Amino acid sequence: MSFLEYAPAPESTAILNLKDEYGLFIGGEFVEGSGNAFQTISPADERKIATVQTADSSDVDRAVMAARTAYDRVWSKMSGADRGKYLFRIARLVQERARELAVAESLDNGKPIKESRDVDVPLVAAWFFYYAGWADKLDYAGLGANPHSLGVAGQVIPWNFPLLMLSWKIAPALAAGNTVVLKPAETTPLTALLFAEIVQQAGLPAGVVNIITGAGSTGEALVQHPEVNKVAFTGSTGVGRAIAKSVAGTGKKLTLELGGKAANIVFDDAPIDQAIEGIVNGIFFNQGHVCCAGSRLLVQESIHDEVIDRLKNRLSTLRLGDPLDKNTDIGAINSAEQLARIMELTQAGEAEGAERWSAPCELPSSGYWFAPTIFTGVSTSHRIAREEIFGPVLSVLTFRTPAEAIAKANNTPYGLSAGIWTDKGSRILAVADKLRAGVIWANTFNRFDPSSPFGGYKESGYGREGGRHGLTAYLASASERAAVTSDTKSSAGTKRSSTKENRK
Ligand code: NAD
Repeated sequence: MSFLEYAPAPESTAILNLKDEYGLFIGGEFVEGSGNAFQTISPADERKIATVQTADSSDVDRAVMAARTAYDRVWSKMSGADRGKYLFRIARLVQERARELAVAESLDNGKPIKESRDVDVPLVAAWFFYYAGWADKLDYAGLGANPHSLGVAGQVIPWNFPLLMLSWKIAPALAAGNTVVLKPAETTPLTALLFAEIVQQAGLPAGVVNIITGAGSTGEALVQHPEVNKVAFTGSTGVGRAIAKSVAGTGKKLTLELGGKAANIVFDDAPIDQAIEGIVNGIFFNQGHVCCAGSRLLVQESIHDEVIDRLKNRLSTLRLGDPLDKNTDIGAINSAEQLARIMELTQAGEAEGAERWSAPCELPSSGYWFAPTIFTGVSTSHRIAREEIFGPVLSVLTFRTPAEAIAKANNTPYGLSAGIWTDKGSRILAVADKLRAGVIWANTFNRFDPSSPFGGYKESGYGREGGRHGLTAYLASASERAAVTSDTKSSAGTKRSSTKENRK
């Protein structure tokens, strides 16, 4: 046994009180779905965790109408201070059930327990606490006095941060006075269903939060439902584009949080030890299943060899394996489909002439796994430099001058995030000013805070989540309301009266 081997330290699953089967959460209770039920499995060993119902279009209709009724009768009439109390209660319940939620998340998603325990779940609670504080202060959200909620929000989220993405969607929507129907990803529905139990525990009025499970067709029915006033989507750029087309001209407000291919730029004066940790955190956190991952390392040519040697040494110490083991750094890939995509793109990288190095680690015999991998000698035309791999794979490019670094960093259809590593504050500001990315970290990476807005440009989507900006996605200003009301009048009879009612 080498000094780097650790004794196993698995977190117990005894705290989980899972049901064998989960229904849809509509109108405050778990109900049967009409579609074909499916199984959610653990990606670490492919074992079944629970059976989950599928919502077909009639169930989507039930959920949206439950949200509509709750909006019209209760939530839109409640004071901001009272809505805030419910959100505070949810935040505290998340903290109380934190260990259970972390175990469920790691089991269903495959991410290391140290990440779900120390990052995902604490941020979920922080998001609810933060927006609880906003609920009675909407006049200060930057939309003028008396901004108004939109109505029913249809929200669709991906599998990489299941509970965290749920909190990014539900917390601002409820704080702003909307009701919601949320669909989690088909491979990670578990923590959303546990969250439905928390909603019951918090005594939230029935129908304010509805959770429906199923695959893409369930999401499609939700975003296209005529009684949905606001669509919030986080996921791939392809699906985001299809959603943008389907809601165009409907008057629904839309925010899209899509893919990314972030540049992490390391200058030769960077604090190198911190930069190595930042590069590792930037791309290997959550197995690289991170929209804002620093998947393109741009390193100044003069320090290229040193950085690569150090990176290889560091990656050789990462422990890959059981997501529930507290020592694990790299967990499982979330699904067979995602693993196939990572393999296809890494094979393309080799075929196009980049040089591949994978950390020497033993992969478990069952489940979906991929060793941390670095490609050097990558050029901007390679697929691994242009396409989102969404896995533990780093593409390394070099540059000589700041201008070349900026040009290469911006040479992507995406624009979600970027990182800058340098000792010079002035260079940070000068380079950041020229990078076309929604979030830029300096001498750090992958830091999130509920008070800080997050979102992209170009094919990474539009709209911001987090902070005061995140509220504006769920509110209409007085002038927006006036415009919507006059549109509604000019197309009189084409909309249901309840929709008009909520936009008054
Ligand atoms: P995906 O687009 O395949 O699926 C996302 C969600 O959309 C799932 O719940 C899915 O069931 C649903 N869906 C699929 N087709 C749909 C349709 N036609 N209409 C409505 N809903 C539909 O994405 P994914 O593979 O689950 O997630 C990975 C992607 O998400 C990556 O591209 C990643 O960058 C992106 N992402 C972005 C952010 C961000 O904040 N920008 C955050 C996390 C993930």
